[in-house]
Amino acid sequence: MTVPIAKLSFWGVRGSTPTVDPATWRYGGNTPCLELVAPDGTQFILDCGTGLRMLGSRWGAPNGGGNPETHIFVTHYHWDHIQGIPFFAPLYAENNEFHFYSFRSKFLGRDSLKQVFEAQMALPYFPVDMSAMNAKRKFKEVEGGDTFTIKENKVTARWLNHPQGCLGFRIETPAGTVVYATDNEPGDPKLDESLRELVAGADIFINDAQFTSEQLATTRKGWGHSSWREGVKLAREAGAKTLVLFHHDPDSTDRMVDSILRQAREEFDSVFAASEGMVITLGSTGDSVQAHMPGTRTSLRREAQFNAKVSGVTEGGKDFQEETVVRDISLQGALISLKNLPRLQSELQVTMETPGEDGVQTMLLKGYVVRIDAAVEKDHVAVGVVFTD
Ligand SMILES: [Zn+2]
Ligand SMILES: [Zn+2]
Repeated sequence: MTVPIAKLSFWGVRGSTPTVDPATWRYGGNTPCLELVAPDGTQFILDCGTGLRMLGSRWGAPNGGGNPETHIFVTHYHWDHIQGIPFFAPLYAENNEFHFYSFRSKFLGRDSLKQVFEAQMALPYFPVDMSAMNAKRKFKEVEGGDTFTIKENKVTARWLNHPQGCLGFRIETPAGTVVYATDNEPGDPKLDESLRELVAGADIFINDAQFTSEQLATTRKGWGHSSWREGVKLAREAGAKTLVLFHHDPDSTDRMVDSILRQAREEFDSVFAASEGMVITLGSTGDSVQAHMPGTRTSLRREAQFNAKVSGVTEGGKDFQEETVVRDISLQGALISLKNLPRLQSELQVTMETPGEDGVQTMLLKGYVVRIDAAVEKDHVAVGVVFTD
């Protein structure tokens, strides 16, 4: 018997507006778009932010998506959740079929999402009109409290506290349960309770973590968003296993998100900060979830050979130290072969011996784990780090 596996991919994680600021590249600048492939092959897309374009561009690639049955959930109609739609190439191919789910907005009335499509592509806002969108599109209205099944997966929708309304979704697959609840401000007792029910026992809980607790209490109160602290509180109360901090503020640099993540990890065991390219597998090893970031190399690296001592924290939360040879290094980072499996998004201390004029010198660098790949060497993993200091 094969174990059912679900795969959750993050294509866009930034809230409000895309960013191309170099200080935000590590977590990524595309607006919300997630993809969940359930064990039965059903493909779910959660939100249509600019990350959707990337998902679309992988459509035709081998093993790169292109599922015959795709269900797209749109949480609400703010720009950051819909602006990828006109740039989603699979919508222009007539063989494709998409099922869209969203709520009836009181500002738009019947067929709200259909109207959004038409408005986005109306002249003079976009050069191509709707007639070019050849894929079959079916629209279904959902509202808070609805529950329905898609093949062997159960979907539940609940209202969240956000200006002009927003839906949170819970998707239960045979491999595990994912709850996607972004664009939500805590503080409304009824909606808070409803969200706790939605999150109950989830394996993965993706939550709005746009603001710091201080901002949420003062200057950003009433803006419709949340903080890591509220996410941790909710995850604890509802018994969620892994919390993913999501919808990063466009003004949050990578360092700021690092610091938010560090604080959250002090309070809750299993937390990740959503990062473009991150993939979480559910159901592969018992109850646990596995996160990894298979990535392409972003900068030229130099072949080198430095003896190095690496210390950090393993996936299981234990401190480790080991000696290795760093062979692949750039000004920004390195690829290090390790026996220990460090935790994704944790900090590694890398002490390298470098030959200098006065003999061997040591250099201490702080690295941040951005990707983990199965290495060519047996019993090792290839760990990609970005140097932060
Ligand atoms: Zn948003
Ligand atoms: Zn919003």
